[in-house]
Amino acid sequence: MIMNIDQHWSLEMRRKSILVGLVLTSAPIALTSQTTGAPDPIIEKIRAIGMDSSSTERLAHQLFDSIGPRLTGTPDAKRGNDWLVRTYKSWGIDAKNEQYGTWRGWRRGYSHIDLVYPRVRSLEGTMLGYSPGTGKKDLTATTIILPRFADSTEFVKWLPGARGKFVLVAAPQPTCRPTEDWQQNATPESKARMDSMRAAVRAEWGSRNVRGTGYSLAIGTGELGLRLEQAGVAAVITSRPKDAWGTIEIFETYNLKAPAIALSCEDYGLVYRLTENGQRPRIMMNLDAQLLGEQPSFNTVAMIRGSEKPDEYVVLSAHFDSWDGSSGATDNGTGTLTMMEAMRILEKVYSRPKRTIIVGHWTGEEEGEVGSKAFTEDHPEVIKGLQALFNQDNGTGRIQRLGGGGLPNAAEHISHWLTRIPAEFTSKIEFRGVSFPAGGGSDDFSFACYGTPAIGLSSLSWNYFNYTWHTNRDTYDKIVFDDLKWNATLTAMLAYLASEDPTMITRERVDLAAVAAAAPQAPPTTAGRGGRGQPTKWPDCVKAPRKTEPRLK
Ligand SMILES: [Zn+2]
Repeated sequence: MIMNIDQHWSLEMRRKSILVGLVLTSAPIALTSQTTGAPDPIIEKIRAIGMDSSSTERLAHQLFDSIGPRLTGTPDAKRGNDWLVRTYKSWGIDAKNEQYGTWRGWRRGYSHIDLVYPRVRSLEGTMLGYSPGTGKKDLTATTIILPRFADSTEFVKWLPGARGKFVLVAAPQPTCRPTEDWQQNATPESKARMDSMRAAVRAEWGSRNVRGTGYSLAIGTGELGLRLEQAGVAAVITSRPKDAWGTIEIFETYNLKAPAIALSCEDYGLVYRLTENGQRPRIMMNLDAQLLGEQPSFNTVAMIRGSEKPDEYVVLSAHFDSWDGSSGATDNGTGTLTMMEAMRILEKVYSRPKRTIIVGHWTGEEEGEVGSKAFTEDHPEVIKGLQALFNQDNGTGRIQRLGGGGLPNAAEHISHWLTRIPAEFTSKIEFRGVSFPAGGGSDDFSFACYGTPAIGLSSLSWNYFNYTWHTNRDTYDKIVFDDLKWNATLTAMLAYLASEDPTMITRERVDLAAVAAAAPQAPPTTAGRGGRGQPTKWPDCVKAPRKTEPRLK
């Protein structure tokens, strides 16, 4: 029934692939026209289902439009977990939510934020994740700019004057136009002037010792937010614009009483200038939110059990949680859908795999790969029997690069697999040979640190970092469905080939120090999330926190 793909691997291809596998990242390999031999009927079926009857649009609508963001610890994340289980079960795939710990729970309600004096304007803004609300009541106050302090004593003296006010703690951007726009349109002189103004603002506001207070804003309001709250401020107003039109990052606060909100670059600038110019602006906020205390946090794990080698595993990996400034469509909704759709396809055409195929939809990734780390600790059998893990977490684009994750034997196996995949896929992929272990930043790291074959599927960016990553614009409409279904189809093929492979990948590691010494200018690795610096030693595993671990600095 299932063709043994080993029979199709000619000796010649094996020799060629072994050579390919030994090449390091300094010499990426173009894969054009490597496909040889008779077409594999399973691969053909995967292609047909994945490309001609993709379910990604329907799933995307359900996940991003109906469920929305999936911030760890929120009821929305749990609703998402339950949706995953239901969807897998409807496909005949065994799935469950595995609790691995707790995280601070929070419910996001609405954010209404208006400038009410000296003129009326509804401001573009929202609460930071985990922010307290205003009890659904209007809260109106004047604003105050966090000044520059000589030292923390001066800061403490200033604090009583900030009581009852909305404190502006972010840099006022001299422009909300992206650099690209300045490059295209400005005279060289005004471009240079703007560059130096932006650099000055970064230097003034960007440090961990925000304006001399001695406190950091971390990725939201950090320690400084807590200190301001303690002093009785009414709310903290931030803004973290990207170098792009209309996008801001929206992360988190640890405040428990004073709300923390993020405004758009434009509206933050407006409020800042009115304040700076003595206009005494007043803002009215009405914020609905609930702090829920520690709540159970779950990974969703689905499985197609192996028929011949059930104790060996192929793992499809993508974090499920998101920040919640928008829907988390490309971070990491598209990775999620890639893995879901790959499982749907595999169940249809390869329901009795040789090895066990698992999909892990991790949560807590944005808080430090918590869910996937916990999974590796709770499932030593998967680490022991891991044939390959495929992780995708850098946006909606076509998968462009992959490598052996620092394991020479993994590179040999992958190069075999790639010869079995149609050229319409492999011609668009750069195979980076042995490459490097994932260095953190996504869930492949949680597995790579054990020296297992953890393979990051690195995608074309589609302006990921400027427009959608952790922003207010990471929404359904940003998904490139042609690329997404292509990724799901390719991932299903890789999972099939890894499962059918006659032998297990062995775990000898590349000598990272020697590689670094030989090629200090090597390009960055193919981590699941994109480029990272070249490591000189194998990464150490980090224990998963099983309850909220604040990140205040
Ligand atoms: Zn991500």
